[in-house]
Amino acid sequence: MNGDSLRRPVALVTGGTRGIGLGIARALAAAGFDLALNGVRSEEQVASVVEELCGSGVRCIYCRGDVSSAADRGRIVAGVREAFGRIDVLVNNAGVAPAERRDLLEASEESFERLIRTNLQGPYFLTQLVAREMVETRRTDPGFRGCIVTISSISSTCASVNRGEYCVAKAGLSMLTKLFAARLGEYDIPVYEVRPGVIATDMTACVRELYDGMLADGLALQRRWGLPEDVGRAVATLATGGLPYATGQVIRIDGGLGVERL
Ligand code: NDP
Repeated sequence: MNGDSLRRPVALVTGGTRGIGLGIARALAAAGFDLALNGVRSEEQVASVVEELCGSGVRCIYCRGDVSSAADRGRIVAGVREAFGRIDVLVNNAGVAPAERRDLLEASEESFERLIRTNLQGPYFLTQLVAREMVETRRTDPGFRGCIVTISSISSTCASVNRGEYCVAKAGLSMLTKLFAARLGEYDIPVYEVRPGVIATDMTACVRELYDGMLADGLALQRRWGLPEDVGRAVATLATGGLPYATGQVIRIDGGLGVERL
């Protein structure tokens, strides 16, 4: 690329090499973003995905690291800075489900800590790190248009007593969005929450049959599984400035699952 005006914007997508994160990465690549994809698997395990995305005409790098580790978060951000010079869009997508769904009266503190560290503390402090960089970039380049998107879940408001720790972590992400939207408003850096419903990925593979039945019975208004590309489209719309006057908002990608009915 010659000159800053021709520079492609750069997006860091955590958990970007499979599932919802890959749906987001593909949509952002189609929108012309260079990509930094993060995950915990080895470089070899994600090589074909990185190759596929590079084949779509953008630059794509892999930043291996555990978002629940402060040292890894620092390395991830440094890696993106080294490769691309800056971060225009952060997508907090990486997340885990409880290793075992256990009733609220039985669930362990160990599982609670794992879920909070990975699904809430990780994105909270990664956002802090990237937000500092964005504010600095904005100071030196008033034309800079940053954007932060966090993937929460229908579980941020819907109580599931067999995975309370997941719900609590996701509810925290809703407040993360409001807090950073409030803090970054003066810099015109929008912060959004994208709240998916039931999406067909590895995470939901273990409950595929259960949800097949529930979806057929009308769990969501639209009687099908959500797909990673459904979420990808929403994130690409936000990342390309499609909703510029809506910071702090929740975008529900759930086929109407969250609509209260009587
Ligand atoms: P998957 O299990 O398919 O993928 C999870 C991704 O997160 C993987 O890329 C994984 O990396 C990455 N990841 C997990 N732990 C870490 C970590 N400690 N550090 C860095 N990366 C990590 O899940 P989904 O695609 O289904 O979910 C993506 C997000 O969407 C999650 O936050 C999930 O809670 C949320 N969500 C999912 C819904 C669904 O129905 N599927 C519904 C609502 C929200 P690697 O590939 O290297 O293993």
